[in-house]
Amino acid sequence: MPTSSIRSCYKTATGQIDLARLKQDVPITTVAGLITKLVRSGTEMKGLCPLHEERTPSFYANDAKGVFHCFGCGRGGDVIAFVQQVGGRSFLESCEWLMGSSSFCPPEHRVTVAQATATRQANVHRAKKEFRRGVAVEGTVVETYLANRGLDGQIPGCIRHSWVPRFWRDDGSEGARQPAMIAAVQDVDGSVVGIQRTFLDNEGRKSRRGSPRLSLGQIRGGALRLGPARPEIMLTQGVEDGLALTRMFPGATVWAALGDGNLAHVALPRHVRCVTLCGDADEAGRAAVRRAKRAFEALGLDVKTLFPRAGKDFNEEWLLLHA
Ligand SMILES: [Zn+2]
Repeated sequence: MPTSSIRSCYKTATGQIDLARLKQDVPITTVAGLITKLVRSGTEMKGLCPLHEERTPSFYANDAKGVFHCFGCGRGGDVIAFVQQVGGRSFLESCEWLMGSSSFCPPEHRVTVAQATATRQANVHRAKKEFRRGVAVEGTVVETYLANRGLDGQIPGCIRHSWVPRFWRDDGSEGARQPAMIAAVQDVDGSVVGIQRTFLDNEGRKSRRGSPRLSLGQIRGGALRLGPARPEIMLTQGVEDGLALTRMFPGATVWAALGDGNLAHVALPRHVRCVTLCGDADEAGRAAVRRAKRAFEALGLDVKTLFPRAGKDFNEEWLLLHA
């Protein structure tokens, strides 16, 4: 592609398209949502597949992972692959369209980077605001929830309690607020750019009304930091696993990627040299660790792996062997 057609904000120093930035700015659900109606299903969005004829939805899109997958026709991939397959165009043409500079797609299917970026920025802003509203967990249902998992005692300030909306409407108005554990997601520079909400009932159990766990803002690339950046860190998936590891390895810095899909993508500050990947014991957890190991080794980091000696995850190991 002639470099002149790459928008300056998506041009790298060498004149290539900054694919990571492009994919981050244009969420897969925004693009897929223009073509098929998507509804929330757990941590993902679900709808009728735009790539094959079907009557019951088997198409899933996941912004945290930046991918789509159809269980009906087996197609899947990132947002660029989606545009390639829907538009029947080349990789470069698809990138160009996503950058808002092409017109091969019918107008009703067209998304501009400006629109997608505005949505993303609104969610990052909401996440920052909701995190600031949060309070220390002592004496709240979050303290009860964590104590029931053997995680009593000191809880770092990056985990808070608040009443937060489950969703925001298109006009920007918010849905009803519900009590939740708020975990801060910090980017590589340490700024809070997202939150994970774990909705709880009044007894401190995970809410049964809808999906108990929802993220907001920028998750990919960030991490929940249960300790300061050090040359050596432990990286795990969930909040509860992270807290369990801080108790099993006092003094260690533990961060949590808040999802299998993000484990390989956590952007680590330059002075982190060694990372211990702490995975769930099941096949999904082991696969996520394998992917992350390859990714971090490619960056020249010293990588170790650790799996629970009992139970399916480190929170269970903590409950079974230590608490
Ligand atoms: Zn399909």
